[in-house]
Amino acid sequence: MSSLLQVKNVTKRFGGVVANRNVSFTIDEKDITGLIGPNGAGKSTLFNMVSAVFPPSEGEIWFENHKIDSLPSHKIAPMGISRTFQNLQVFKKMTVIENVMVGLHTRTTSSLAAAAFRFPRSRKEEKFIYENAMEVVNFVGLEDILEVDAGNLPLGKLRLLELARALATKPKLLLLDEIAAGLNHQETLEMSDLILKIRDQGVSIFVVEHDMDLVMKICDKIIVLDQGEKIAEGTPKAVQNNQRVIEAYLGA
Ligand code: ADP
Ligand code: MG
Repeated sequence: MSSLLQVKNVTKRFGGVVANRNVSFTIDEKDITGLIGPNGAGKSTLFNMVSAVFPPSEGEIWFENHKIDSLPSHKIAPMGISRTFQNLQVFKKMTVIENVMVGLHTRTTSSLAAAAFRFPRSRKEEKFIYENAMEVVNFVGLEDILEVDAGNLPLGKLRLLELARALATKPKLLLLDEIAAGLNHQETLEMSDLILKIRDQGVSIFVVEHDMDLVMKICDKIIVLDQGEKIAEGTPKAVQNNQRVIEAYLGA
């Protein structure tokens, strides 16, 4: 088993706030790894560093054989890392298919400006983007509402759209930040089936989630953060029975 992602002694400070303190772990290929902990524990901050939204204050992040902690964020998707956001990033006035296509434009173009102004591309490129977008829209099950504006979609469909956008670049590592937040029971079950299906295609998944039934069901390994520090790591069963985890998070 080889490690896809290595986080080594990562610390992140925002002024006086230490959002992550000396955090280390690895993510193995084709694993579903959970990241749990109370609000403010530093989960999203860690995701932001792995997806190069900002660099760590200290420490290193390696993906495959590349040191990625000082790369600009547009270099991350082409390497094979993609993510969803806790606060959805869809464009409300664009349709479902347009949202996925524009995601591919930004993620396949090195310059954000070029993507924003949609500099003309070859027909071949346009076709490639359309076909990729259709493939993921079908995969997540949004094919019946291709032409609906995102602004008219209920939360459950918006979360699927956010997922489709992240999948469109065909990541090797997919980061899901609270992808099931606000979903009802049935939608949550469907989302967990979808996550398992994505992993079956060979994608490694790193997931922040508060729904413990979901986390315990799908994760191979779980990392627990509390006040910026890693307090536990192990199988769902080991973590559930860990006294420190129960006190910091699960027992609440
Ligand atoms: P979680 O996702 O586990 O709820 P976060 O990573 O969002 O936690 O936040 C961890 C801590 O870092 C919090 O105290 C939060 O206020 C702070 N923080 C996160 N992002 C920023 C930022 N961009 N600027 C300043 N402080 C931040
Ligand atoms: Mg968060």
